[in-house]
Amino acid sequence: MTHDNPVFSIVAPCYNEEDNVDLLYERIKAVMEGMGEPWELILVNDGSRDHTLEKLVALRAQDPRIKIINFARNFGHQTAVTAGMDFASGKAVVLIDADLQDPPEVIEQMAARWREGYHVVYGVREKRLGESAFKIWTAKLFYRIIYRITDVDIPIDTGDFRLMDRRVVNAVNALREHNRFVRGLTSWVGFRQTGVTYVRPPRQHGDTHYPLRKMIRLALDAITGFSYFPLQVAIYASLFLAFISIAGIPLVAFLRLATDVVFLEGQATTLSILLLLSAFQLFFFFIMGQYVARIY
Ligand code: UDP
Ligand code: MG
Repeated sequence: MTHDNPVFSIVAPCYNEEDNVDLLYERIKAVMEGMGEPWELILVNDGSRDHTLEKLVALRAQDPRIKIINFARNFGHQTAVTAGMDFASGKAVVLIDADLQDPPEVIEQMAARWREGYHVVYGVREKRLGESAFKIWTAKLFYRIIYRITDVDIPIDTGDFRLMDRRVVNAVNALREHNRFVRGLTSWVGFRQTGVTYVRPPRQHGDTHYPLRKMIRLALDAITGFSYFPLQVAIYASLFLAFISIAGIPLVAFLRLATDVVFLEGQATTLSILLLLSAFQLFFFFIMGQYVARIY
């Protein structure tokens, strides 16, 4: 790291944000100039199909503190944020949405906590304005499920809007997993973390780019990335079912030999073999599940 690196790197992923990027730049510039330290703004164009890229290029022409990363297609929010973090050179890196739902003015409070010695300062959404009841409800449910079943303390009602110290960024950048849940990774690495609350305003322009399909994907990445819970359920269910299968064999024998239940006639042998094989299979699955959990 050289001495002319900026103090702050702001990273904003942009997907079809042609109507938002100019105002985003203006608001960030106003806040950052007020803070009086060198900064850079990294705008990641995530395969937008509108004129976002042209807008970004025009902005960069007027301000060399702007850097553009241009994706060849839409790779998704989390990948865009990751590319921005890889590229950022600041002593602190701020992740912010491009649609102005994360007010740039909050960065000042985040920076103040950072100066106090915190390594991660995340934004906690105290209230969400102008979003559908469905979006608010699914988001709330999502944060609570993640909180309960993961082994990492991922703070509730918190998106990717956060400031991270260089040490945290380096630690997160060293984790090269493919299906990334960035806020989970920044919690997982530890360090001193705290939150600042803010009211989340509605989107400046356009509609959410997180349809249900993308939300479910994000939820699955979060759950599989930070918890063995579903795997554990499968592992113990298979062990339980293996025992039931084994227990079924003497039951079949008893019903066939000691009672005159008709439906078993001619099938007892087949059924016993089937149960025995199922029990073996399920037990092997249990063993393999244990290894998979440890590999993971
Ligand atoms: N975004 C992105 N790629 C995508 C979807 C979204 O880079 O495939 C960006 C988007 O431009 C915005 C941020 O991620 O800056 C958050 O997306 P959005 O506002 O649509 O999500 P919401 O606020 O509705 O959860
Ligand atoms: Mg948004």
